[in-house]
Amino acid sequence: MSSIPIPFPLGERAWWTGNGHREEWVTCPECAGTRAVTMILGNGEQYSLHCDNCRAGYEPSAGVVKRTFYEHAPQQITLNRVSVDGNKIRYSQESPDATCYGVIYAEHLFARQEECQAACDRLNEQRNKEERDRAWQILLQNRQKMAWSVHYWRDRAARLRRELATVEARLAVVKQKKGEAYAHRDP
Ligand SMILES: [Zn+2]
Repeated sequence: MSSIPIPFPLGERAWWTGNGHREEWVTCPECAGTRAVTMILGNGEQYSLHCDNCRAGYEPSAGVVKRTFYEHAPQQITLNRVSVDGNKIRYSQESPDATCYGVIYAEHLFARQEECQAACDRLNEQRNKEERDRAWQILLQNRQKMAWSVHYWRDRAARLRRELATVEARLAVVKQKKGEAYAHRDP
């Protein structure tokens, strides 16, 4: 039977990268806070739309979107509890008999503050980049949705106009026929 070495003994102080993140409302990058977007089609036709990027469901566009910013910073803690799950070693600050406890993975713990600071810098860079990429992907999806909606409603309007023209033409024929009928009755 093999044993997994535990990097920190219980009761020891260690540096943790922390939970540092905050959510903030920022100006919508798509409509610049104006809540409206102008779409210009290839033929020069322009449409003004409610911005879909800063709108949740059927709510009106808000002009702002929620963003998460990661700000991990070294935090000194005491390790009071440890558990091994597969090859993952998890610590906690809470005592072993606590029923509710936070989990800290060993890879986020360091003996020295400078090592922890370097890990925080890496985490902040990586997670903030992921967050920016995610926001950009959402913006592109919403842009596609808006373009789709312009084409959909534009096609639908064109179809209804054609249908209306057909209906009016039929009515004109009916009127004319009626007119002819009266003409026959009243020579
Ligand atoms: Zn917007």
